[in-house]
Amino acid sequence: MMDLKRINAYMAKVAASEKRCFKPAGKKLKAGLDLGTAYIVIVVLDENDNPVACEKEAAGVLRDGVVVDYQGALSVVRRLKGELERRLGTELTKCAIAMPAGTEGSVRTHQYIAEGAGFEVTEILDEPTAANSVYKIDNGVVVDIGGGTTGLAVFKDGVVEKIYDEPTGGTHLSLVLSGNYRIPFEQAEAVKQDYRKHGEIFPIVRPVIEKMATIVARSIDRNEADTIYLCGGTSCLTGIEEVFEKVTGIHTVKPDDPFLVTPAGIAMNC
Ligand code: ATP
Repeated sequence: MMDLKRINAYMAKVAASEKRCFKPAGKKLKAGLDLGTAYIVIVVLDENDNPVACEKEAAGVLRDGVVVDYQGALSVVRRLKGELERRLGTELTKCAIAMPAGTEGSVRTHQYIAEGAGFEVTEILDEPTAANSVYKIDNGVVVDIGGGTTGLAVFKDGVVEKIYDEPTGGTHLSLVLSGNYRIPFEQAEAVKQDYRKHGEIFPIVRPVIEKMATIVARSIDRNEADTIYLCGGTSCLTGIEEVFEKVTGIHTVKPDDPFLVTPAGIAMNC
């Protein structure tokens, strides 16, 4: 079972490390670079996996988990790395990276971007497996709902049995909201990320969430998992776990703040 109390406290500290640096336990720093469709994030942990610092930037340089603007991605990663080094007063030399499952063909591109920004890449993971470094579940399904993709990993006795990825994510919810309210995409993003608006927007985006949950239900055997563990920015939506539970028939849980679970898990593997 996932220790929700531990994870809520841990993720609150990761989120806080965006505003202030925490003193690392030793000299070694572990960085996790998440090149996402909606956000590029770098999380820095100490050698005991305690959060140290974090930087993120909204960027449209990937589509469906694949880099479409190489130079744009490179300059964002350079900027985030530089800002972290300024805050920490030290150079970051190594990082781990992760790919949405099923986009392994573009591993090299992600790696070149990290290297172009001055990182040595020590580990390449798939996103839901990275997330499970935080959750540490032995049996169940980790579902990572990001901006452009929904990925899942089925774990049995601590081992990944299956990974799957589908190009549907939060960007699609924002497109639906943009059309519905007749507002620009950026404004729809802001409305969606406002927790006070979640009650109002939920009925509008519910069909897309049901579709995501149906895809997850189709790609797992109900007998192979008794719990779904959500993460990724789109999992922040209030009530999303109830839709997943209803559609899949599988108990579904998420921490209070599931946004930075994957980048933190990537950093743990550096
Ligand atoms: P991918 O992994 O699909 O390539 P990504 O890594 O950019 O994308 P995340 O950073 O996990 O994905 O999540 C980004 C998505 O989460 C965006 O669509 C964003 O609008 C959404 N999001 C962030 N915060 C919230 C919130 N509070 N409520 C609803 N959605 C949110």
